[in-house]
Amino acid sequence: MLDYELTGDQRAMRDLAREIAEKEIRPVAPQYDRTGDFPWPIVRTLAQCDLFRVFIPEEYGGMAGGTPTMNMVLVTEELSRACAGIALAFAGTALGAMPILLAGSEEQKRRFLPAIAAGERLAAFALTEPEAGSDAGAIRTTALREGDGYVLNGTKQWITNGGEAEIYTVIALTNPAKGPRGASALIVERGTPGFSFGKKEDKLGIRASATRELIFQDCRVPAQNLIGREGTGFITTMRTFDASRPGVGAQALGIAQGALDLAVEYACNRRQFGAPVSSFQGLRFMLADMAMKIEAARALVYATARYIDSSPQQRPTKYAAMCKCFAADVAMEVTTDAVQVFGGYGYMRDYPIEKYMRDAKITQIYEGTNQIQRDEIGKILIGEYHSRKPRAVKAAS
Ligand SMILES: Cc1cc2nc3c(=O)[nH]c(=O)nc-3n(C[C@H](O)[C@H](O)[C@H](O)COP(=O)(O)OP(=O)(O)OC[C@H]3O[C@@H](n4cnc5c(N)ncnc54)[C@H](O)[C@@H]3O)c2cc1C
Repeated sequence: MLDYELTGDQRAMRDLAREIAEKEIRPVAPQYDRTGDFPWPIVRTLAQCDLFRVFIPEEYGGMAGGTPTMNMVLVTEELSRACAGIALAFAGTALGAMPILLAGSEEQKRRFLPAIAAGERLAAFALTEPEAGSDAGAIRTTALREGDGYVLNGTKQWITNGGEAEIYTVIALTNPAKGPRGASALIVERGTPGFSFGKKEDKLGIRASATRELIFQDCRVPAQNLIGREGTGFITTMRTFDASRPGVGAQALGIAQGALDLAVEYACNRRQFGAPVSSFQGLRFMLADMAMKIEAARALVYATARYIDSSPQQRPTKYAAMCKCFAADVAMEVTTDAVQVFGGYGYMRDYPIEKYMRDAKITQIYEGTNQIQRDEIGKILIGEYHSRKPRAVKAAS
């Protein structure tokens, strides 16, 4: 196995996450996939094993050791290898905590992060609305200043960990006249009067993850829950996605690796024409292509996570989009091929492989669809070109 120069601590947390994934998550993954129940017993195990601490700095009860993104990526990958839906309780909490980690005040960090680090309170991030998906600038939820607080009105849609999390980082308009420039990030705690939940969604994949509507009706939050300054909500959102998209890449990576593991095992045991199907070169070529794509995705996801941890002053937008988009496409291709390796049995719910294909699809959709990632990457490439001294391309004579 390629080493990727992980530190001793990183290897230990990866191995611990792998052990929990194999012993605790894999045996119950089909049951959670069927029922759609939220995996609270697994969340408690992750908390007991200190895994929610890996993306939070020591001064707020964490043990990030200066590499929070890489740690989050390693744990997400391992948990997703066994069940991406269950892994989302962890990854969605990292996403929800991100605005506080990146732009929260010292007081907010001390108030909210220790309970997240201990796994006592899950978090969620709420941007999307029924009419504002890719076009996040079209959000309509308002948070209008009244006295010493803000009053929220509006609906957020498809929020991961919705209804289960205690801490919600919500993007809302504090100055609707300014449009997206009037957006701000606020922390809303579950139980705040005027804050309720809509129905839990019935989904194609990641079925152990709770996806719910958040409904705000004259919901009053204290002014000290504003993250950063008024009007910085979209800057905070972009910085959040820069830091969290490698996590989606890691989720995709784990799904793809889990599917390949099963495909190799099946190919070595399924016999046709008097021999294991793994003896047929056509099938071995498929397995080889799957493995090559996964390793390339892993290299890009890990390199991006390292870049984010080691160069906090740089904007990693291009690489964060690349690794999310590339790994998600790899996950979709690899899981589709893994079902093919299983043949007709792969199509049956009795076998574990079709779940990987269903789970992979979401990684191409959320935290910005892969079309939006490609658009961002293309825009950055063109911007980089224009910021250099323009040089016309000439035909070679
Ligand atoms: C299971 C699940 C969990 C989610 N969790 C969260 C969460 O925790 N928090 C949160 O805030 N949101 C969450 N989301 C929302 C998610 O981020 C959005 O679904 C996503 O951003 C896409 O928005 P949309 O679904 O409205 O698609 P649309 O924006 O309506 O897009 C429809 C299609 O048009 C394409 N398209 C749109 N605009 C462009 C463009 N400019 N160029 C090219 N193609 C374009 C899209 O790629 C897509 O193929 C979740 C969604 C799901 C399904």
